[in-house]
Amino acid sequence: MRLIQVNIKLKSPAIISAKRTKEGYVKPLRYLPGSTLRGAVISSLYVEGLLNEENLKREAKNPSILASPAYPIIDGFKSYPATPFVGKCKLCGKIYDLTEINIRNIIESKDPVFHGECEKCQVPIEPLYGKLISKRGEVEVGIFRSTSVGIDKRRGVSARGMLFDYEAIKEGVEFWARLRIPREIEIDGLEIFIGRGTSRGFGHAIIKFTKEYEVEVDENIFYALSALVPLKSIKTPYGATIKIEEVYGRCKQLQTGWDIEKFKPRPIINVVESGAVVVAEVEHFKPEISAVGIPLEVEDSWITGLNVLTPISEYLAARRE
Ligand SMILES: [Zn+2]
Repeated sequence: MRLIQVNIKLKSPAIISAKRTKEGYVKPLRYLPGSTLRGAVISSLYVEGLLNEENLKREAKNPSILASPAYPIIDGFKSYPATPFVGKCKLCGKIYDLTEINIRNIIESKDPVFHGECEKCQVPIEPLYGKLISKRGEVEVGIFRSTSVGIDKRRGVSARGMLFDYEAIKEGVEFWARLRIPREIEIDGLEIFIGRGTSRGFGHAIIKFTKEYEVEVDENIFYALSALVPLKSIKTPYGATIKIEEVYGRCKQLQTGWDIEKFKPRPIINVVESGAVVVAEVEHFKPEISAVGIPLEVEDSWITGLNVLTPISEYLAARRE
């Protein structure tokens, strides 16, 4: 297995939504969830004949091909979910990132500090935790809304009452992500089909290899590049144990997607929003797993694409001008 960084470019609009509502697929996500990306990559590798039925069964039982969430690259800058220590002035738009100061506070066993007012406008700073930011500031992803007619698949005609709205990420948007894939698989140039409506031409994307991803871990403060399951101790199927001592973040509920093998929705679980800062003790650390998310078995389903932990220094380096 090897750990690589890739770019994913949309060749057609992608409908990436957490669920279908009454009006259709609206409120799309601004990123590609790791589990969705993993599913799209595995399907494509199977269609291309690079994985066989046996490999698929093994992946269902024991996930080894893994993907981090894919976040947009805007104007050449990678975006990241903001930590709980990031805020923005509503009036002038200035971003205040206290992460670096607070990492020092955490190391010195001091309480973290939070924002007060904008120094220029004297208005309260609003938190940006979990929202996507890059060096340039808060990230806007091109989204458009449209209405589509559902097609009755058996008769090939437009079906009554099947008109639905959808919101899609525009074609041309590029994302970055990390993948764990078998060494012998050539991923550069792989076509994937991601999100909803792929049979109608949505979600066509191309993966481009960027670099091998190597990470040195000699810190015990991590950054959660994805949502995190708040367990005291995360045992990975690969021998490492992560003992979580402190999490700076906020919980939310997450529908973990659709289980293709079992044909039922995956469970709804409590997670800490992505961008959290995590103090943890790690035994037998395997960066190649945590960089693409430690898989967890919940109610008979493997949850992937969560628990992506990277050293906090990566986030700090990405934020520095
Ligand atoms: Zn201001």
